[in-house]
Amino acid sequence: MSDCLFCRIIAGEIPSSKVYEDERCFAFRDINPQAPTHILVVPKEHIASCADVTADNAALVAHIFTVIPQIAAAEGLTGGYRVVSNAGPDAGQTVPHLHFHILGGRRMDDRMA
Ligand code: AMP
Ligand code: ZN
Repeated sequence: MSDCLFCRIIAGEIPSSKVYEDERCFAFRDINPQAPTHILVVPKEHIASCADVTADNAALVAHIFTVIPQIAAAEGLTGGYRVVSNAGPDAGQTVPHLHFHILGGRRMDDRMA
């Protein structure tokens, strides 16, 4: 997906502040952080959103959910953190490549955002 922003970040065509990478996923700091720690974790495979998770790619998503606590620990998020994935326009998804926001370092006063 040469026209996908996050595919281009994964490929190194667009610079990012990388915090983690393995053969299946990539993590980098959000350019517009909503919390002291705001990291995006993305699969290297292009999947449009969490609405497109299927039995065929579920193992990849499960892998990402083993990486998320490693990143949170490395970031020192001992007080907890939030994981968010937006799917579609009503959720406010702006980049159509599956990503999980890790938000931490502040108290999340609202329930869902
Ligand atoms: P969403 O609104 O859930 O689709 O999240 C997309 C996120 O990508 C937003 O939080 C943006 O701030 C972030 N973002 C957009 N462009 C970049 C970029 N070049 N580097 C890092 N984060 C980005
Ligand atoms: Zn992509």
